[in-house]
Amino acid sequence: MVPAAANAPQRDVARLIDGKALADRVRDDLRRRIAAAGRPVRLDALLVGDDRAAGIYAMNQARTCEEIGIRYVLHRLPASASYDDIAGRVLLLNTDDSVRALMVHMPLPAGIDTERVQSLIDPDKDVEGVNPANIGNVVYGRRSLVPCTALAALEMIEHTGIELRGKRCAVVGASNIVGKPIAVLLMREDATVHSTNKFTPELPRLARECDVIVAACGVPRLVGAGWVKPGAVVIDVGINRIAGPDGTKITVGDVDFDAVRGSAGWISPVPGGVGPMTVAMLLRNVTDAALR
Ligand code: NAD
Repeated sequence: MVPAAANAPQRDVARLIDGKALADRVRDDLRRRIAAAGRPVRLDALLVGDDRAAGIYAMNQARTCEEIGIRYVLHRLPASASYDDIAGRVLLLNTDDSVRALMVHMPLPAGIDTERVQSLIDPDKDVEGVNPANIGNVVYGRRSLVPCTALAALEMIEHTGIELRGKRCAVVGASNIVGKPIAVLLMREDATVHSTNKFTPELPRLARECDVIVAACGVPRLVGAGWVKPGAVVIDVGINRIAGPDGTKITVGDVDFDAVRGSAGWISPVPGGVGPMTVAMLLRNVTDAALR
């Protein structure tokens, strides 16, 4: 992706990192790549049970895939499926040569060990990067099949044109699927990375010394103005549903956007930031896996 500007000028209000516009560009690239490939690109997804949100997500995913020329095949198992039923289906899809890109929708029915199921997905087909084996890809520098949200955050930082080598970065939150992979991707760019969590002392002070802050902790609007060094790049991964001023539910990030945009150099909004880019990175992982 082409950097927007190598050195953003000082300004009163942060520049917006428009995740939706960036995601549209990624999608356009993928559409062209798939059309030129002359080979089918397909995503196989397994949906277990009848969770309403997961069903809606799968439906939207089918539409998103078809828009860029990816065929979407949904495999379903009933809510009564046992671990062995689910594992058996994943292993069957692993051995099917026509399946190149595979994911399992969450949540799985209560009582099913999610991590155990995820670790069964063939690492070469694991387009969400949820098999622990794929964390090795992050460490060893492969860009494809690393967790999509981490890829999205890195692409958005790179879009600002910041040279990460020698910069200090704070990643607020250290989950296996979001915070840790983001920290490792930043380390690979030779940044000096603080991986932080809810036990980190004096976190606002530490964050304020950093050139990049990635907020991925699931605490609504935690990162305030006092956390941000003037001109810093602030990426907000959080997606939190909270009651708005009139009592209706609104979506906010882990960054207090209005407070921080006065001091940050660049900031990603929620919604319209990391979320749409994460979807685009999944589509890219699917395309990479299918065309490999
Ligand atoms: P998680 O609950 O698994 O992990 C949260 C991490 O944040 C932990 O390491 C915890 O120690 C840390 N943390 C909690 N409170 C903290 C505090 N006060 N200060 C510092 N660190 C703190 O959450 P997750 O699955 O990593 O998700 C994090 C956020 O990212 C959530 O808001 C989630 O909705 C969002 N998310 C967004 C996307 C996307 O596509 N944009 C994808 C996945 C998750």
